[in-house]
Amino acid sequence: MKLHEYQSKQIFSKYGIPIPKGRVAATATEARSIAEELGGRVVIKSQVLVGGRGKAGGIKVAKDPAEAELFATQILSMEIKGLPVRKVLVDEAAAIDKEIYLGITNDRSAKKPVIMASSEGGVEIEDVAKSHPEKIVKMHINPLLGIKDYQTRDIAAGIDLPREYWKSFGDILKALWKVYEDNDATLAEINPLIIGKEKRLVALDGKMLIDDNALFRHPELSEMRDTDEDAPSEVEARKYGLTFIKLEGNIGCMVNGAGLAMASMDILNFFGGDPANFLDIGGGAGADKVAAAMRIILADPNVKCILFNIFGGITRCDEVAKGILTAIAEVKPKVPMVVRLVGTNAEEGRAMLANANMITAETLADAAQKAVAAAKGYQS
Ligand code: GDP
Ligand code: MN
Repeated sequence: MKLHEYQSKQIFSKYGIPIPKGRVAATATEARSIAEELGGRVVIKSQVLVGGRGKAGGIKVAKDPAEAELFATQILSMEIKGLPVRKVLVDEAAAIDKEIYLGITNDRSAKKPVIMASSEGGVEIEDVAKSHPEKIVKMHINPLLGIKDYQTRDIAAGIDLPREYWKSFGDILKALWKVYEDNDATLAEINPLIIGKEKRLVALDGKMLIDDNALFRHPELSEMRDTDEDAPSEVEARKYGLTFIKLEGNIGCMVNGAGLAMASMDILNFFGGDPANFLDIGGGAGADKVAAAMRIILADPNVKCILFNIFGGITRCDEVAKGILTAIAEVKPKVPMVVRLVGTNAEEGRAMLANANMITAETLADAAQKAVAAAKGYQS
């Protein structure tokens, strides 16, 4: 899950990282009154969950409240990389001497968090990473030990930070690590961390990614979720507790258990098919969940066939059959459907589906081949 800049910076601030004074606004009038409160120059910043807002024209410095209102009007009517701007952050404008990059993320190959820092922060950091990789300093963190003073000094020296800033840089880096650790983040990034004219380090921008699988421990973060950027089908799936990932193929899959779902996708590929999604309805799914899953699958116009592969254990096949019937009555699918039910109450389930005009299969290989053929044969 991505957090907005203003949300990330609020978290940073709680951990003692200096941020500019400011507030978020949903209208231009609100932006104006925040600018009046702050006095002086302000920066109007689009709050959308994509990078490169600055380059896209989504960040503008206003000299007075009237201009703040004007820029807010403009920015609130923008779309940036396909996302509508619904909010702007109005911050006290900063006078910048230098822009530094500072981030912590997960280095999967090293299986450790890694600190990344650069003296060349700001909007060109991706280009710096490509053309001058030596300008990005990296250091792994032992999560049991945290960050030690010698490490913050090494990084500060590595990015040629003037000595007078080493202490506050160290405090910020340690605070950023706490932010990352406490919130189960997979990214905590400040770009730019500026040296301001007042000779002070300030986090001008903030970005955080939170591990979705840890959100159950952070109800306060879950509430911050902005679903604008998610595929609507994934939002719907989350509501029903379904594990759903949209893919590019044309065979919709409804399977119980992640392992079986992956095996089903593999075997579809093996027989020349292409799954439209990964969907695990989970253990013990009832009829309403199955019906929701079916609606989600059918909302994808690419889907030319649905394969149901249910291994009844805790999940009962008759419950799944009931869900399929409910969903059919509600959604009236036109695409062919292949069903394989085995395990608990499979007999009952099959009997319930006997008149539902579905293609039945005994084995997974059989089911996959029938699904591939049905998808090929279907003309919408
Ligand atoms: P991003 O483009 O989405 O990463 O948004 P940022 O918040 O990082 O802003 C992009 C750039 O705009 C920064 O690197 C700064 O150069 C500039 N910028 C942002 N806020 C201010 C500000 O308060 N004053 C000045 N002078 N420049 C700013
Ligand atoms: Mn930035």
